[in-house]
Amino acid sequence: MGITRRSFGLAAASAALLPALPARAKEAPAGAQAPGIYRMKVGALEVTVLNDGSAALPTKYFSGDAEGAAKLLDNAFVASKDMAPTTFNEWLINTGDKLILVDTGYSNGAGPMAGKLPKALAAAGVNPADIDAVVITHIHPDHSNGLLTTDKQIAFPNATVHVNGDELAWWLEGDMKIPEGKPFFKDLFEGGRAAFKPYVDAKRVQTFKDGAELAPGVTAITAPGHTVGHTMVRVANGDGQLLIWTDIVHSTALQFPDPERSIAYDLEPPKAIATRKKVMDMAATDRLLIAGTHIGFPGVGHVAKASSGYAFVPVSWNANL
Ligand SMILES: [Zn+2]
Repeated sequence: MGITRRSFGLAAASAALLPALPARAKEAPAGAQAPGIYRMKVGALEVTVLNDGSAALPTKYFSGDAEGAAKLLDNAFVASKDMAPTTFNEWLINTGDKLILVDTGYSNGAGPMAGKLPKALAAAGVNPADIDAVVITHIHPDHSNGLLTTDKQIAFPNATVHVNGDELAWWLEGDMKIPEGKPFFKDLFEGGRAAFKPYVDAKRVQTFKDGAELAPGVTAITAPGHTVGHTMVRVANGDGQLLIWTDIVHSTALQFPDPERSIAYDLEPPKAIATRKKVMDMAATDRLLIAGTHIGFPGVGHVAKASSGYAFVPVSWNANL
């Protein structure tokens, strides 16, 4: 039988007529994904991408027309017309004498689709007590909830928590600033305040400013709009460089080809769009290696200019460090 569209159609049709597999398989299916860890070198530093989970976001959370969104999902071979796949990634930077965790995942704030960071850390051979510093890129639940364990205890007992000073002040100090038409910001405030409280009480929170060097070769870069102090982390050592751009993109399928689409969680959508376009242009022009929270695991790759907007070019699994 040659390879024709007809032969593939027939194969699919006859497979559907086959009897079900015997009830007792040789080995029961694993029924769960393996923990997500992906290691890479940035010069002499080692960066491990850790996966906290994956999910799909309704396209109505994004600005722009529904028809165009459905077309972009179809172009990306996404089966759904109205749900855009997303992912939750975090990073562990081993500088040689410090272990720095960038973001902490959802903990149990989003049900079974997330909260897998502790298992990923364990699979990477790291005890949470060994982490020296936690960098929170912005105070949203998918990034900061994991500061606490599922029973609301401090998850990283020996770590100092680092966060942009404007970001900390905006979320934690004074009244909750709930934007017009976005009542769900109340949950964001309450979640962020709860996650930080034990660390604030223990005087274990340190703030930084744009451009601060968090450790040799690890620099905080403010990329505002998504939140007031939304932070990217640049890791550079020797001739290696990685830009951890965190929430510049929430949907690869929608926002690479159309960077004008903002997400409802953006505090200032026009500023978030301007920041995304600026960072994507820089990444494409300078051929930067980038890593994103919400880009399919491991979410590391390059940004290519496309006929419309940009395309994400993921790295291949590299078995050799
Ligand atoms: Zn996020």
